[in-house]
Amino acid sequence: MSKTMKAAYLPGDSTVELKDVPVPAPGHGEVLLAVRASTICGSDIRCIYHEHLGKGPEGYQGVIAGHEPCGVIVEAGPGCRRFKAGDRVIVYHISGCGVCNDCRRGYMISCTSAEYRRAYGWQRDGGMAEYMIAEEKDLIYLPDSLSFLDGAQVACGFGTVYEGLEKMGICGNDAVLITGLGPVGLAAGALCRKLGAEKIIGIDIAEERRHLALSLGLCDNVLAAGPDNVAQVRDLTGGYGVERAVDCSANAEARAIAIRATRKWGKMVMIGEGGTVAFNPSPDIIHDQKTILGSWVTSTWLMEELVERLVRWNLHPEQIITHRFPLKQAPEAYRLMASGRCGKVAVCPDAE
Ligand SMILES: [Zn+2]
Ligand SMILES: [Zn+2]
Repeated sequence: MSKTMKAAYLPGDSTVELKDVPVPAPGHGEVLLAVRASTICGSDIRCIYHEHLGKGPEGYQGVIAGHEPCGVIVEAGPGCRRFKAGDRVIVYHISGCGVCNDCRRGYMISCTSAEYRRAYGWQRDGGMAEYMIAEEKDLIYLPDSLSFLDGAQVACGFGTVYEGLEKMGICGNDAVLITGLGPVGLAAGALCRKLGAEKIIGIDIAEERRHLALSLGLCDNVLAAGPDNVAQVRDLTGGYGVERAVDCSANAEARAIAIRATRKWGKMVMIGEGGTVAFNPSPDIIHDQKTILGSWVTSTWLMEELVERLVRWNLHPEQIITHRFPLKQAPEAYRLMASGRCGKVAVCPDAE
């Protein structure tokens, strides 16, 4: 093993800084992971890449970037109880204190410890490097039939979507509307399909993304974002609207469309982060008995279940990765993701 490694940092001026840093050593209850795939998230662009806008859990503290890592353990530190060298693993991207109520539920995302809650790639070193340190309690086994790119997708996007869909409930009865067809929206299409939905309608402003959703079979109909979307969705659903809607756009107009295009007694979930929305409670939700849910990331236990189901369903999240780059081209990878003219973008440290 080399004594130094390449690692990517985000100074906040729409650039990526590559540095040579020492390979870290795992402490008690930690493992050293050889990173094999690390995908770029919309939140990396929104909160860090252009400018360091995030606060609190989205505050970037100048660490190695990347919160969607997947790799193989090269060294288990003292005190590890389950994982060992050679295991292929996904890293749940927030390391919580482990002992608060939220952590005990498996939702380290909402860990309440200001001192111990640290997210990979935000407050502690993440996966945009040849190696990284992860705590054993944050690891999820990656089955042999899933690739490292599949696993990196589970780490944030697919896990987050699965949580939102499970909260809302999706089955073969449902027509589903997805607003925003970036990587998270595409993941929603892929999972809704496996959960039985046979009428999936997607809305996005970008032609490339609409085309990708259709060509991958993740949507049955796609609509260009516009003022007629609610009427168009009703036309596609017998005049009623969809039973279920998922907002992955964080756009105010798209969220209002998702609420209004949901039929009477229907449910919608908000996953896309940031921004705002305006709607009229009485006509838009109260009189139609609608439910609006919020959902933030997922738990370690549901992520484990998702991994098991991906194998059962023969669903490979890798399918929505349209571009992959070696680590030395991380600047190009982030630039492409920021442009939005792509599906998911991955960095693979050993692809050089
Ligand atoms: Zn993410
Ligand atoms: Zn906690």
